Amino acid sequence: MIDEYGRGIDYIRISVTDRCNLRCVYCMPKEGVDFLPHSKILTYEEIIRLCKCFAALGIHKVKITGGEPLVRKDLPYLIKQIKEIPGIENVTITTNGILLVEQIEDLVNAGVDSMNISLDTLDREQFREVTRFDLLDKVVAGLKEALKYPDLTVKINCVPICQKNEEEAVLSMVALAKDTNVHVRFIELMPIGLGKELSGYTEDSIKNMIEQRYGKLTLYRKTLGNGPCSYYSLEGFQGKIGFISAMSHKFCDTCNRVRLTSDGCLKNCLQYSVGTDLKQRMEQGISDEELREVIQSSIMKKPKAHQFGEIEEPDNNEVSLEERRMSQIGG
Ligand code: SAM
Ligand code: SF4
Repeated sequence: MIDEYGRGIDYIRISVTDRCNLRCVYCMPKEGVDFLPHSKILTYEEIIRLCKCFAALGIHKVKITGGEPLVRKDLPYLIKQIKEIPGIENVTITTNGILLVEQIEDLVNAGVDSMNISLDTLDREQFREVTRFDLLDKVVAGLKEALKYPDLTVKINCVPICQKNEEEAVLSMVALAKDTNVHVRFIELMPIGLGKELSGYTEDSIKNMIEQRYGKLTLYRKTLGNGPCSYYSLEGFQGKIGFISAMSHKFCDTCNRVRLTSDGCLKNCLQYSVGTDLKQRMEQGISDEELREVIQSSIMKKPKAHQFGEIEEPDNNEVSLEERRMSQIGG
């Protein structure tokens, strides 16, 4: 569907849980995390019903996220059901990879098209510092397992953070794309939740580091995914290097996505807390036709752009800034 600013909205990120088996410093606090009770989380049946409505409205691509999506039981069942919905073309997943070795086969059999594995460093001590768990080996084993499936597109998401995973970490992540067909993407840290207390690296500074070590990055013009990542080739590398730079290269004018939080709130923009409670509507007995209308009118209110780094308070009194963590929204 087309929103008020003429943007085609065809992609939804669905968070299936606010729980996680890691505690990344930019995403979750070390302790004292309050999780939603199970009764507040969308059931698989509710998610499937909503996906049918999204598909009817022209949303063809679904990303399953969290929290950590693989901690939710029977995720392959959900993926299989979503894949079977007419109009859904593509179902992908974003995971920290900890549980991949055990689950990859079932996920692939369920029909997952592509997998983003979040991995910020290949240095064990840095990994422990960033995620607060000594589990690098599990993620690396999960990545290797994922690469055994030739039809599965595998991408790595890395958020470089000042004083945590800096230049050498970035360069060793890039090296992963040399001999394997894995795309390594660098995400600029966003000032959401705990991200407000840290500093990240800009796209330009990361490009500089990479070019000094590996040579010229050449823009890759073909489409490689559903989102705002711009990809580059490096000579002699199998995989591409990508940048998702919401801060330094704002992409709001082509933003094609909306988000569904694990408690059923349809959110149009990461920065604002405003959203439409679809779970409540379903519990009140709304019909499918009414549900589609609610979704459509909610998406029509998608803001023109985020204003991260530009404002402390929104200029519109009717909206407020998002207070929740990325793990609660579904990054
Ligand atoms: N647990 C899964 C994972 O880590 O891939 C899925 C959820 S996680 C919230 C999704 C993505 O958001 C991860 O790649 C993570 O690095 C990213 N992320 C979390 N907080 C962020 C922030 N403040 N700025 C930029 N990216 C962030
Ligand atoms: Fe968990 Fe993903 Fe957040 Fe890390 S980024 S704490 S893995 S939800």
